Amino acid sequence: MAEHRTEISSIGEFGLIDHLTKNNETKNASTILSVGDDAAVLDHFGKQIVVTTDMLIEGIHFDLMYTPLKHLGYKSVIVNISDVYAMNATPAQITMSIAFSNRFSLEALDEFYEGVYAACEKYNVDLVGGDTTSSQKGFIISVTAIGEVAPDKFVKRKGAKKGDLICVSGDLGGAFLGLTLLEREKKIYLETKGVQPDLENQDYIVGRILKPEARKDVIDFFSVNDILPTSMIDISDGLSSELLHICKQSEAGCILYEEKIPVNDIARQFAYKLELDPTACALSGGEDYELLFTIDQKDYSKVNTNEQLRVVGHITEKDAGSKIITKGGNEHKLTAQGWNAFG
Ligand code: ADP
Ligand code: MG
Repeated sequence: MAEHRTEISSIGEFGLIDHLTKNNETKNASTILSVGDDAAVLDHFGKQIVVTTDMLIEGIHFDLMYTPLKHLGYKSVIVNISDVYAMNATPAQITMSIAFSNRFSLEALDEFYEGVYAACEKYNVDLVGGDTTSSQKGFIISVTAIGEVAPDKFVKRKGAKKGDLICVSGDLGGAFLGLTLLEREKKIYLETKGVQPDLENQDYIVGRILKPEARKDVIDFFSVNDILPTSMIDISDGLSSELLHICKQSEAGCILYEEKIPVNDIARQFAYKLELDPTACALSGGEDYELLFTIDQKDYSKVNTNEQLRVVGHITEKDAGSKIITKGGNEHKLTAQGWNAFG
C-alpha cells in the first residue's frame, strides 16, 4: 500500500506550523491568546497555576517499531497532564515542541497531532504553542503543561504524616508487562522476518503502555468529596520508587502490604506466563500513570466508596524505615528499582 508522502521541505516550517494548528481552537477562559504570536497569554483569574514539562526521546522513551504515531501523540500529552493532576490541579494548556529528521513526512506528523488533539479534547486542554525544528536523527518531543488549582489546594510530595493511609488508583504493573510483550514480539519479528506479532488477548496490557490515561476522575472525586490528600505523586517509575519519594520528602517511613497492591487479572496471568512476579512488576515496572497519595485516617470512609481507589499501606515514623510485608508475612526493606533512562 503506497501511502502519499509529503516532504516537510515542500511546505517549510511556517507552513508546517500553520498546517498542524489550523483547526486548533481554545476551550478554556484562561487562554487569552494561543498559537500564532511570540508567546501565549494566560489569565488564571485568581487561581494558582502549576507548570510541568517532560521530554520523550525516540530510542529512549519510545520505539516507533511498535508505537503508532497517533498513540505517541496522545501519550506525550497524557504523561504531562498526569503530573498536573498529581499536584491536585486541573490542566488547562500545553505547549508542544517537536524535532524530527527528514525520515518524517507531513502525513506522519499529522498522525502524531491527531493523537495530540484527541488527548487535548478528552482532557479539555488547549494547545497554545510550541516549537518546531529538525533533528539529525530520530523524533524528539517536549511538552509543557500548565494547570490551575484553587489557592493553596495544591498537593506536594511532602506532607505525609504518621498514621496516614497510603492509597493508589487503578492497577499497577500492566504497562511494564505490555512493554515486555511488545519487546518480545519485536525480537521474534526481527529474528524471523515475516512472523506477525502474537498480541492475542493482550489488549489490556498493550493498551496500558501504548495508550495510558491520566486520572482526572480521581482529582474530580477529591473535589466533589472535599478530600485533600496529605501528599501525592503520579506513578511513572513504579510504586516503590514513588512511595520512597513521598517518604523522603515527608521525612517519614511506610509499611506497604503486598496483598493489597492492585494488579489486573489479565496482567497477573501474563506475568505468570513469563515467569515474572506480578508484585515486582507493580513495584518496579512503571509508566502506569496512576496516582499514589496519602490521606488522613478521617477520610478513609470517603475514599472507601470509590472502587478505583485502594489502601495499600500506611505511613510510619521515619526511624521505622520503608517496609513491605509480603503475602507470606515476611518483612522486607522497600527499595527503588524504578525504570531509569540512564540504567
Ligand atoms: P517564534 O519564532 O516567535 O518562536 P515560531 O515561528 O517558532 O515563533 O512559532 C510560531 C507560533 O507557532 C508560536 O505561537 C508557537 O508557539 C507556535 N508553534 C510552533 N511550533 C508549534 C508546534 N509544533 N505545535 C504547536 N504550536 C507551535
Ligand atoms: Mg519558535
